[in-house]
Amino acid sequence: MRACRQCLEAGFSVIPGAVFSGPASARLMIVGQAPGVTECETGRPFNGSSGQRLFDWLAEAGWEESDFRAGQYMTAVTKCYPGKSPNGKGDRAPTRAEQKLCAPYLEQELTLVEPQVVVPVGSLAVRRFMGAVRLTDVVGTVVEGGEGRLIVPLPHPSGVNLWLNRPENQERVAEALTHLERLRQELAL
Ligand code: SF4
Repeated sequence: MRACRQCLEAGFSVIPGAVFSGPASARLMIVGQAPGVTECETGRPFNGSSGQRLFDWLAEAGWEESDFRAGQYMTAVTKCYPGKSPNGKGDRAPTRAEQKLCAPYLEQELTLVEPQVVVPVGSLAVRRFMGAVRLTDVVGTVVEGGEGRLIVPLPHPSGVNLWLNRPENQERVAEALTHLERLRQELAL
């Protein structure tokens, strides 16, 4: 996977170098959209400013960042940095074609790790596991995802400020973190 050049060869402007981490024995898998530039440079998922917010959330569910990184699996729908958005606002979202090219890798990760809990982070990752849903309808819920998995969706910590301006959305995230804390204890994650 780390040597994959499929998107480049298909004409997409990714920075190759797949980013993912965690042991195959992990029982929880976080799936983001795609790595950012800091993640690409360091080779560590969620290592930038958005990662800080994600780990702040996970701390509310009872995980220290170092323990979480050592024990759980972190990946994304597409594994390489897609580069900046053409309009200059943040990073480019991977196209459907890139998502399709990268999909077998996520399938392999799910098969290898067999997580009991999957936490898709952000709309694009949430759609991969839950179909065409709105974050406001699913954040704060726990859904059976088939193959014995529980899905606990979260918004993407990058660019979430506007969404979190609404108190009901803050409550949705708090509810999701309460579910994660409960599952961490019940399943000894
Ligand atoms: S995003 Fe996925 S499919 Fe595209 S080059 Fe990277 S590893 Fe390969």
